[in-house]
Amino acid sequence: MRRTVLWAIAEGFAPEDAERIGRADVEFDSRYPARASLVNITRHFAPMAWVWSRRYFRAAVRARDLALLGYALHCAQDAVSHGTLGERHLLYLAGMGRHPDYWERAPLGIQRRIEAVTRRLLQRYG
Ligand SMILES: [Zn+2]
Repeated sequence: MRRTVLWAIAEGFAPEDAERIGRADVEFDSRYPARASLVNITRHFAPMAWVWSRRYFRAAVRARDLALLGYALHCAQDAVSHGTLGERHLLYLAGMGRHPDYWERAPLGIQRRIEAVTRRLLQRYG
């Protein structure tokens, strides 16, 4: 969340707006936990997470809704960081194993791509 807030500020959002975006981004996992349903799983993994991201982004632009923008960012960030639903994620979702994708453990290339997709969406929201 910290990073999303800082990127939003860097893209010209007011600090309190950036906070709203970052909060919605973080809350998305507890609002739509992947464990809860198959539909929820699609929100957190490519390729469907890209579709969700676009859907939330369009709704965000239409309604000028920063929470929806945060959801759009979350789905895009997950699509990059999780990739497709793999074995490690299935183990994690089944309650076994550790979460496979903490930021600190993500390769530098993945971190850069997450920043790039996030900032692109923030710019397009304008
Ligand atoms: Zn997620």
